[in-house]
Amino acid sequence: MTTATVQFVRKTAVTAPGVEAQAMVARLQSGVPDRETLRRILATDLADEVEVIRQAAEQALLTHCGDTVRLRGLIEFSNRCTLDCYYCGIRRSNRAPTRYTLALDEIVETARWCGEQGYGSVVLQSGERRDEKFAAFVTEAVRAIKAATRSDALREGVGITLCVGEQSPETYAEWYEAGAHRYLLRMETSSPRLFAALHPAEQRYASRVDCLKTLKAIGYRVGTGVMIGLPGQTVDDLVDDLFFFRDIGADMIGMGPYIPHEQTPMHSASVRDVPARMTLALRMIAATRLLLPSINIAATTALQTLAPDGREQGLRYGANVIMPQATPLHVRREYTLYDGKPCLDDSAGQCAACLEGRITSVGRRILRDQWGDATRRV
Ligand code: SAH
Repeated sequence: MTTATVQFVRKTAVTAPGVEAQAMVARLQSGVPDRETLRRILATDLADEVEVIRQAAEQALLTHCGDTVRLRGLIEFSNRCTLDCYYCGIRRSNRAPTRYTLALDEIVETARWCGEQGYGSVVLQSGERRDEKFAAFVTEAVRAIKAATRSDALREGVGITLCVGEQSPETYAEWYEAGAHRYLLRMETSSPRLFAALHPAEQRYASRVDCLKTLKAIGYRVGTGVMIGLPGQTVDDLVDDLFFFRDIGADMIGMGPYIPHEQTPMHSASVRDVPARMTLALRMIAATRLLLPSINIAATTALQTLAPDGREQGLRYGANVIMPQATPLHVRREYTLYDGKPCLDDSAGQCAACLEGRITSVGRRILRDQWGDATRRV
């Protein structure tokens, strides 16, 4: 063999694990995904296999969604919360954060700024309140943002995603009428057993599922998701999560590694180490992309918390949505869901500048001045 031939063989040779991984991917894409294949995709840590899976997920993304990354400016407008989720830093019982709710004007101004950056969409996120005053405030904010962000590029104003938890069907309908058209409500886990271990008894698995169904029936584009690497979570639980995403008809998935917060009851529970949680989260993104190729999938801030290039890695494993931090700096530290949340001191402008470089570094481009919804599955 000539040197050139040897080099050619080296470059193209697919290793045995690689061949096996190609067969797994083919089974998954054949339309009849089986539990065992998904379990293997999530469980493998052979570098060759992971790379075959990653490339297949990236290819599925490019084929079904194109190379654009859709941005949603994240506005964490209130950390007031009536719930007590055992994992979350802004839970009711945590006395450490100073509680705040941004003034309407500041929320609208922030959304307007996001529109001017070309983000196309915003996410309004907060702790959970179910009182009438809160519902009316959100309605008002949605209407005002819509009115303030209409432009030649965005005739209907920025797209608005709400992420404010479980609410009554009437409240969901009111917000939809006001102009919010996407809703993000993570299931946190599709396992009823695990859900019960993560939440106080008054927070019910069934009511969360009901909320997702109600949101879909109203007409929202619905996002859901889970935390990955939770104490007591098995690979089988994660496979169930994937089937849950499919069966609920999710338009978007936002998921990331679980990261303990020191001031929560769960912080001392044992978890997989950081690299294990990180790679598992990336493989979950890839598996979701292969199973549901046309939906939107977020590369979340939690990924970036565990690795500085975590969101870029998420994009390379099949994600196509990023939520740049737009929360005003003066409250950002009070919205600490988990320890080590990044970008606490970077202004929204710095976040915007940094993001563009990160996205182009992985060969992708920003979708500007558009809502960036997923194409509907049939
Ligand atoms: N009250 C809203 C917003 C919650 S915060 C709601 O219930 O939808 C948004 C997400 O942050 C949660 O859905 C949860 O998945 C994630 N989160 C909270 N604490 C976390 C932690 N310790 N580690 C990783 N993600 C966490």
